[in-house]
Amino acid sequence: MSRNIAIDGPAGAGKSTIAREAAKQLGFIYVDTGALYRSIGLYALRNGVATDNAAEVEKLLPAIKVELKYLDGVQKVFLNGEDVSEAIRKPECSMAASDVSAIPSVRSFLLELQLKMARENDVIMDGRDIGTVILPNADVKIFLTATPEERANRRFKELVEKGENPDYDKLLDEINQRDYNDSHREVAPLKQADDAILFDTTKLGKEEVVTELLRIIAEKLEGEY
Ligand code: C5P
Repeated sequence: MSRNIAIDGPAGAGKSTIAREAAKQLGFIYVDTGALYRSIGLYALRNGVATDNAAEVEKLLPAIKVELKYLDGVQKVFLNGEDVSEAIRKPECSMAASDVSAIPSVRSFLLELQLKMARENDVIMDGRDIGTVILPNADVKIFLTATPEERANRRFKELVEKGENPDYDKLLDEINQRDYNDSHREVAPLKQADDAILFDTTKLGKEEVVTELLRIIAEKLEGEY
């Protein structure tokens, strides 16, 4: 039986950085499910379809094939055979992903791929509905969060390090907007599963978060590591 760890939480809580590092240390595969929604968002943008138009987005689905591949342990997302791992990181794909993710047919379209990954591999899977909908029987469930201000701050620093000149207030607005969208949609809204462990990382650095996460996981998996 494969072991499954679910990590959910709001945008910018550091889920991907932390989950990727923890997965490496545990020898698990890291599955970033946000990348799947971003790929659908990218496809809609490229085809000039309004990402919040459910009927139009739904019509695109039969022409879309999304695949996950791992190169040296790093997740790559393929959209109809093209590696879009970089393209989906563009800021416009964040809101596009948030829009399309509220469409029920998009969520069911991506369901089987996520279930298959978890069935066939030991995974740390991150997203918004992993502990509540996708893997309700996950061995460990974590809800990772931080205040919106701290998340905007982290994103700000990240962009400055990349040589960009970000606007803090705009970043904070975007985070609040995505939080609102993700937690108020009808299907699979962002929320902490009843049996998830709440982990607030506001005052912690990356190393401390990884160490604590590994401790929680080890404890849950009954001292296996
Ligand atoms: O995690 P990331 O920020 O890349 O996700 C992009 C968007 O995809 C989120 O804002 C959310 O709306 C959506 N998403 C989702 N369910 C997931 C993962 C992401 O609805 N499991």
